[in-house]
Amino acid sequence: MGDGNIILQKIRLVEGDITKLDVDAIVNAANKSLLGGGGVDGAIHRAAGPGLLAECRTLNGCETGDAKITRGYNLPARHVIHTVGPVYTGSQRDRDLLASCYRRALMVALENGCKTIAFPGISTGVYGYPKNEACKIAFDTVETFLHEHPGIDEVIFCQFGRQAQELYEKEMALRTKEEIPGEAGPR
Ligand code: ADP
Repeated sequence: MGDGNIILQKIRLVEGDITKLDVDAIVNAANKSLLGGGGVDGAIHRAAGPGLLAECRTLNGCETGDAKITRGYNLPARHVIHTVGPVYTGSQRDRDLLASCYRRALMVALENGCKTIAFPGISTGVYGYPKNEACKIAFDTVETFLHEHPGIDEVIFCQFGRQAQELYEKEMALRTKEEIPGEAGPR
């Protein structure tokens, strides 16, 4: 399914630190315990302060592919949606679980009135998911969800580093150029 329009209207690419974003919810690439870790998880807990860990302790962890919401504490973001990505093995199941992370995070956002939501590259750090494959799954899943659920106003893909940002820019250009001639490039 290709509708470059909804991508141009509702998806935005940002390069930088997700903890700085002033949105209704940022997504955390957490682990099953929800009790903190390295990478983006560590950065989010550091920036949010100890209230976040205290609330996470009440959640009894999270299954791979699922998502749970907390408040944002000292973050500019109002909420954190914690999801647990798959550890990459190369199987079809990885794809299904990664897609499920994006879908479940968006569903939890909707259920909690969050209209703007920012995602990091779930599973693409320590969990080893190849960034190019993960990027396609992110676009496919979010695009489908946005078609089905008009309640989400904006999805930000937040990339840490120039190389990852360029990968997303190219993917976005590919997915929008056919529908909107002359507006193929990244904004
Ligand atoms: P996982 O265990 O799911 O692989 P990681 O935290 O190791 O999670 O990495 C997920 C992605 O988050 C990586 O692509 C990494 O570059 C990125 N990342 C790390 N810190 C930040 C941050 N502060 N803001 C946005 N993205 C980040």
